Amino acid sequence: MEDFVYTALPMRVVFGRGTLARLAHEMRALGRSRALVLSTPPQRDQAEATAAALGGLSAGIFTEAAMHTPLEITARAVEQARALGADCTIAVGGGSTTGLGKAIALATDLDQIVVPTTYAGSEMTPILGQTEGGVKTTQRSPKILPEVVIYDVDLTLTLPPSLTATSGMNAIAHAVEALYAQDRNPIVSLMAEDGIAALARALPVLVRAPGDVSARSDALYGAWLCGACLGSVGMALHHKLCHTLGGTFDLPHAETHTVVLPHATAYNAPAAPDAMRRIARALGAENAAQSLFDLAGQLGAKRSLRDIGMPEDGLERATDLAVQNPYWNPRPIERDAIRSLLSRAFTGDAPLSDDTALAA
Ligand code: NAD
Repeated sequence: MEDFVYTALPMRVVFGRGTLARLAHEMRALGRSRALVLSTPPQRDQAEATAAALGGLSAGIFTEAAMHTPLEITARAVEQARALGADCTIAVGGGSTTGLGKAIALATDLDQIVVPTTYAGSEMTPILGQTEGGVKTTQRSPKILPEVVIYDVDLTLTLPPSLTATSGMNAIAHAVEALYAQDRNPIVSLMAEDGIAALARALPVLVRAPGDVSARSDALYGAWLCGACLGSVGMALHHKLCHTLGGTFDLPHAETHTVVLPHATAYNAPAAPDAMRRIARALGAENAAQSLFDLAGQLGAKRSLRDIGMPEDGLERATDLAVQNPYWNPRPIERDAIRSLLSRAFTGDAPLSDDTALAA
């Protein structure tokens, strides 16, 4: 057994079907009585229904949450929370809505209850990414970590198959990098392996039958585990690449993770053999990187950066940005190999095999 340090994050998790009905109970347990319910514009109906079910415990709704947490939207939400005398927020939605709840908490210290409806995993982390004038900055603080997370499988039944696929791959990416993180530890590695296995089992079922409740339950369970990995240990090359590509070229979040993951995994394979064994075992396959590429294909997800909006003339710039201030990574960051990784991801080629990745 390697030496390790493990820090648990304080948070309450409620998981199941119909668990949204426990919102009022969870609010009272926190000693709160006026919730501002948050959503994106497309999920406004869900926010209205949640507020209606809360009755007198609802202070109102704010339905302008947007990708990458723009500061001007947070400012309006904080103003509304103050005007309504809210004493907590309830974020019902994906990572964008969770991000807004976190940003409000950072500014006001209001308690957060998060009800995730995608597999992004933000609800498990003390990390907030915000944008101002197109520039994204990330920070970490105990204030950002939600107090309560209610996973309600029923709310994920409406997640469209394409977002189910890419959001699920986004979750798997957290677990893949947790397995070779510098601060990896036995508990997080157990969660990572089980999280990958649960999602790999569930996602192929869900793209064919999005209403399959048992597969939805497995996928949400897997997403919880993968999110917990993201909140607990440091991420590496894959997350750095996605952060850079998403921020610089405004590429869609979950789709970018889906395209890049097999290639980042192949890059790191020679330097992290034990992690590769565990990822492959969780996927029921021989080769971790190739089986992630195959899984994305099986799910019908786009596998090239070109297909999700990346301009070809951005590859040099992306390479420059990716090698600047790199996150810790098990394999040293080599410019030529990163350029070649990005080229393959751009065209949608299969990832390099372990041996060729080592030679690249
Ligand atoms: P998202 O929250 O933007 O959701 C995508 C779209 O799907 C939205 O229109 C949303 O309303 C809709 N949607 C969500 N759930 C649905 C459902 N069940 N049924 C129908 N429609 C639904 O996308 P996301 O991928 O969940 O989150 C991405 C954002 O989260 C990015 O800004 C990313 O940076 C952030 N994020 C942050 C962390 C962190 O730890 N800070 C972790 C992961 C993601």
